[in-house]
Amino acid sequence: MSDDPALHSRRPLTLRFDIPISRTREFWDGLRDGRFITTKCKNCGNVSFPPQADCPNCMKGEFEWVDLGRDAKLLTFTYVQVTPASFVENDPYIIAIGELAKGLKVLAWLEGIGPEDAKLGMAMRIEFRASKEGNPYYVFVKA
Ligand SMILES: [Zn+2]
Repeated sequence: MSDDPALHSRRPLTLRFDIPISRTREFWDGLRDGRFITTKCKNCGNVSFPPQADCPNCMKGEFEWVDLGRDAKLLTFTYVQVTPASFVENDPYIIAIGELAKGLKVLAWLEGIGPEDAKLGMAMRIEFRASKEGNPYYVFVKA
């Protein structure tokens, strides 16, 4: 172990994330309107989640929007007790992967229950939220 004293910073940090959404804007507007939608490639029919700016299958960029519904089943989850810096204001939380009826997988927080009540295969529903900055996002809740 070194005899050098450790350096500490006690300054609050502000994190800012700029996420380009110009080609997936419809998805974010859909969340605000209570719709959970994603991109379906007009060329090859590939449906992806999250919505894509270019098709990961054929690389074309022409899409239609399809409704995914809001029902999912719990595939797996993790309980985060030591929160990362960007979520330091949050209580411990559950991050889950849910499978939608169409087979697509979605990553989101699972709200409203503790890890002892999260059961693999249980029915969940997607609900919409807004961040304190007013940005829409989605979570799972137990159905
Ligand atoms: Zn395609």
